[in-house]
Amino acid sequence: MVDYNKAFEGAVAAVRAEGRYRVFADLERMRGRFPSALYYGGHDQTGAGETAKAPREITVWCSNDYLGMGQHEAVVGAMKAAADRVGAGAGGTRNIAGTTHFHVQLERALADLHGKEAALLFTSGYVSNEATLSTISRILPDCVILSDELNHASMIQGIRDGRSIKRIWRHNDLEHLEALLQEFPAERPKVIAFESVYSMDGDIAPLKEICDLAEKYNAFTYLDEVHAVGLYGQRGGGVSERDGVAHRIDIIEGTLGKAFGVMGGYITANAAIIDAIRSYASGFIFTTALSPVLVAGALASVETLKQSNHLREQHQERAARLKALLAEEGFPVMPSVSHIVPVKVGDPVQCKRVTDYLLEEHNIYVQPINYPTVPKGTERLRLTPTPLHTDDHMATLLGALDDAWTVLKLKRAA
Ligand SMILES: *Cc1c(COP(=O)(O)O)cnc(C)c1O
Repeated sequence: MVDYNKAFEGAVAAVRAEGRYRVFADLERMRGRFPSALYYGGHDQTGAGETAKAPREITVWCSNDYLGMGQHEAVVGAMKAAADRVGAGAGGTRNIAGTTHFHVQLERALADLHGKEAALLFTSGYVSNEATLSTISRILPDCVILSDELNHASMIQGIRDGRSIKRIWRHNDLEHLEALLQEFPAERPKVIAFESVYSMDGDIAPLKEICDLAEKYNAFTYLDEVHAVGLYGQRGGGVSERDGVAHRIDIIEGTLGKAFGVMGGYITANAAIIDAIRSYASGFIFTTALSPVLVAGALASVETLKQSNHLREQHQERAARLKALLAEEGFPVMPSVSHIVPVKVGDPVQCKRVTDYLLEEHNIYVQPINYPTVPKGTERLRLTPTPLHTDDHMATLLGALDDAWTVLKLKRAA
């Protein structure tokens, strides 16, 4: 007899043995008080946890709601108004009943944000990558996809689902990319798939140089700007806007769930490309459209961030300030040219210990980042300061890290 439960338990035991078992933090954000939240305890999927205890207030240092737009007046107001006006759900797929006027408006706003003819919404950034990349390789016959080695799991999955040959280029290595481009005849379709801000190290791809190579070898470009939309460029169009190369990228992909603070994903491109993806991508066609409430919130967020650089400037200032403070105090802050502030621990067990200690002793919430998300030996804390993290929050964090580093006998920078 097959013991089905045993197979599932065995799979979890293997994850535990590798030190990769995850416990979710049961949190309740308090609107108007982000980055503060209530912590109800740790939760695994069995429902076991310490929820019997009263919740306590903690400070979140690892949210991807990079600007606090998830609690912004304009965003929450638009969502309430939309729910009052049109109700909760979209009522179907986009083909059937799910194209609401909010969807049409948001797609126009996103196309405009990136200077493209058209845009297409998906239920998440993950789905937008997965659905688009797998569809591209079905539309372009004999296509080769050149993928940066640190590309996100959703891009890797999309490439795997398609029928193309995949070649991986060393992270941000232009010479390696060019060598791979040269391996294939000029008439063979080639897609270069990459990100702008890589979210674990906080480094940024050389977009202009990649576009130059794409032009030279007549390759198609697919750029994931998930960690940059809303955050870079004069209107929040991402690094491709900041660097003035958006018009040279064939497809720009982004999320509405991180800096925009809501939920959903999208691609923008010329009309022919969007029309084809819309017509072929299974992950677009056969799923209920995003709720118009979410879409209205995202629209307000995109428009708010288009109109003003204020939050973006504050965000960069906060990130620079935190990096400087950490460096002054001798913490091993890793080099990052973006808003992401990684602090190296270099050991998975210690990394988990630090974050447990910060939460238990100092009410500071930050997730340990371990293998396979990052290479072994580079385990780290990934801090994401927002405009709402004050000098006081930072002083408290520094004091807590100082205590943790001393108690756990961790290395400081030389
Ligand atoms: C988070 C993430 C995604 C997925 O976006 P969601 O909207 O969260 O599904 C895609 N690409 C990268 C690089 C990401 O970090």
